[in-house]
Amino acid sequence: MADVGHTVLFSADQVKDRVSGLAAEIRRAYPADTTLHLVTILKGGFVFLADLARVLDRPVTIDFVAVSSYGAATRSTGAVRLRQDLYLPVRDRDVLVVEDIIDTGETLAWILKHLRAGGPRSLRTVVLLDKPSRRKLDIEADYVGFTISDRFVVGYGLDHDEQLRHLPYVAVLGGSSTDTSTNVSCQTTRGASG
Ligand code: 5GP
Ligand code: MG
Repeated sequence: MADVGHTVLFSADQVKDRVSGLAAEIRRAYPADTTLHLVTILKGGFVFLADLARVLDRPVTIDFVAVSSYGAATRSTGAVRLRQDLYLPVRDRDVLVVEDIIDTGETLAWILKHLRAGGPRSLRTVVLLDKPSRRKLDIEADYVGFTISDRFVVGYGLDHDEQLRHLPYVAVLGGSSTDTSTNVSCQTTRGASG
């Protein structure tokens, strides 16, 4: 991969603060004795999951699914393919999907359908980043960290051609970080059942 450089969009401190804020929103939304079953989509969600799980202050269980990603491209291909299925059954669990970013919405729609088929008690979604201008499907996450414009972002789990996942911040490839990003608060309009 040619090194096109990157520019910080959300610093490690900004991300940390927002993840804590999301954790507080999620805590308020579930009874204190609820064990949350965190399901993360590999690979991009692994950093967000690790940080969120440690500040949730709730009992959690954790599972992973792997689906196809962009590969070397910076645009979604639209086709979602299951590469590795869940290890644990979701039946009667309070499932919270922990996803790095929602773009066209294809991945989230696919995973929610897949999870619903397993009969969870409740099913909600938290995403760190949301690119609503790119949406192809009518789908929103219940909790959103940051809303961003149509930029290809890297870092904090997100890759470009499998690199840059380790960056402790969210960055945009090349260019400047000028963005219309807004820090949005809790979006709990969607039901938890499903
Ligand atoms: P969607 O299915 O919503 O179009 O895309 C979701 C998936 O595409 C995300 O889970 C992520 O893996 C990947 N993706 C979407 N936008 C970006 C981006 O800006 N940067 C990176 N690295 N991956 C993205
Ligand atoms: Mg992802």
